[in-house]
Amino acid sequence: MAYTYDDENIFAKILRGEIPNQTVLETDHSLAFRDIYPQAPTHVLVIPKGKYVCYDHFAQEATDAEILDYTRTIGEVCKMEGVADGGFRMIANAGEAGVQEVPHLHVHILAGRPLGRMLQ
Ligand code: IMP
Repeated sequence: MAYTYDDENIFAKILRGEIPNQTVLETDHSLAFRDIYPQAPTHVLVIPKGKYVCYDHFAQEATDAEILDYTRTIGEVCKMEGVADGGFRMIANAGEAGVQEVPHLHVHILAGRPLGRMLQ
């Protein structure tokens, strides 16, 4: 499948510095920032700086350096936010059925409250 990236999506604007964000961690290839409408006491979004629409796009086309950086950034954010203590959830919505609102890959990291069952 061909992925089409929309340069005007809100996370592209954040990456260009056109919209402010509450940065948690920035690396060469990734940015982690707080969700503007937090669904849990900890709600951080981690995005690659590259133009990837969703996780499968990233996993197919990103360089090894980008993939390593992104994976390590997620790990570092988990450590910084102490999410392993009480447990946490990571979500990457994709496309229409996945109800992805912003078409730039983002992993949600949620923690700090009981998150309930997701798959029944
Ligand atoms: P999605 O449904 O997985 O695409 O989630 C998009 C997320 O982006 C939602 O949780 C929104 O609250 C969040 N969001 C939208 N705009 C901003 C922003 O400007 N800063 C931080 N988070 C945002």
